[in-house]
Amino acid sequence: MDRKKVSRANHYFLKKLETMPIDEVRKLQFEKTKETLERAYSKSEFYREIFDRAKVKPEDFKKLEDIARFPFIDKQGLVRDQEANPPFGRRVCGPPSKIHRVNVTSGTSGMGQEVHCHDEKAIWAANASTASHFAAIGLNKGDVSAVLYPLGTMTGGMLSYEGLRIFGATPLPLAVFNTNQRIDMMRRFNVHHILTTPAHLARITNICMERGLDPRKGFPRLKGITLSTEPFSVSWALQMEEIWGTVIHDIYGSTQLNLNYAITCKYGVVPDGHFGYYHLADYFALVEVLDKETDKPVKYGDWGEPVVTTFSREAMPLIRFRSNDRVRLLPPILCGCGRESAAWEVGTVSRYDDMIKIKATNVWPQTVDEAVFSFGEIEEYNGRVFIAENGLEVAKVSVEFKKMALDDKTKATILKRLGDKIKEVTQVTMRVEEVPHGTLPRFEYKARRWTDERVEGLERVKYVEK
Ligand SMILES: [Zn+2]
Repeated sequence: MDRKKVSRANHYFLKKLETMPIDEVRKLQFEKTKETLERAYSKSEFYREIFDRAKVKPEDFKKLEDIARFPFIDKQGLVRDQEANPPFGRRVCGPPSKIHRVNVTSGTSGMGQEVHCHDEKAIWAANASTASHFAAIGLNKGDVSAVLYPLGTMTGGMLSYEGLRIFGATPLPLAVFNTNQRIDMMRRFNVHHILTTPAHLARITNICMERGLDPRKGFPRLKGITLSTEPFSVSWALQMEEIWGTVIHDIYGSTQLNLNYAITCKYGVVPDGHFGYYHLADYFALVEVLDKETDKPVKYGDWGEPVVTTFSREAMPLIRFRSNDRVRLLPPILCGCGRESAAWEVGTVSRYDDMIKIKATNVWPQTVDEAVFSFGEIEEYNGRVFIAENGLEVAKVSVEFKKMALDDKTKATILKRLGDKIKEVTQVTMRVEEVPHGTLPRFEYKARRWTDERVEGLERVKYVEK
């Protein structure tokens, strides 16, 4: 696209950074990564130890590609570090007085819960990266946005709320209400924008239709709906745009990046009937996309794992963190919105491991395994995440009891206690039911007990008009 044709009517939150040509971004990344490596090596025992073990020093970083010489870190390494040195581990590079925000990842056992802390610089970058999305999709100061993500110690809700606030919009945190009340509140404040997950948008759409509420008429000021956390299909996104009369958007971020690193602009997720692209905030982080087998950078069009080196996180930098996410790298784009950036495909981010995001919460099947098999009476189970016909996102755990004499009352008590325990360790409410002995598959090797049927399920929802 010809640069001269770029419309002047575009919105940016960080204009200088967001419109910086890619070669200049790469120079910035080199400088910032070098600073990060030096700070981490001089201030954090954690990094000094792993760099020394890998026989590498910050001075070895002479060009951007030299990042490949530095060792990877992963979730297990972070959890071990903070368990040995609670609460933050030895990755901290600043004094406690500079730490002004804490985030804790979901999941309380099994895979371990990561603790992240942030100074003001990191908090600003996190909020600014999110505000860039709101600017890019055409929100204005004073616009009202419904934040339907949980607002707690997890990162997603917090970044959405704070990003809207520093952008100058009015965030409406509605997660504490039930779905009907959320719809009422969104109407009362006549929202311009909604932030939610694909599954929850399906549910809201379904309830609106059951109530005889046409979303186009009920939300006349709507300028966009921003999704995140789960994949969806092109046809479903187009259907949602039709029903809601607005543009569907998507953002990708993570607790480790502490950014909404990948955002759609005004063109949304399906600009021309296909999945579009995310613009990437490469001025805040160095994110390599590596082949999962070879650990080498992937070619354009290929799938790989984002490996994250942060530069905005001075209090607790991450260097070459393996995300285990799976993304498709696209060629760099000079977009009609004026942003020149590296790009990933929208709508298709998934996982290499078996973590599942349920109701915007990360759930590792191993965590559920531990809860289920802590009951000696249970022999096997399987888990299903799906979208019911009324649009409700359901996680169902089917269990088989061992062949032993258990009366119905005892079984009912065990199922209730199991449901409570699963909620406690995953923070997600799941339906627990008994199935007859011998009906579930058994596994010889690695158990694959979970299936995710949500992408197809979204399309099967009946959005009935009354
Ligand atoms: Zn764009």
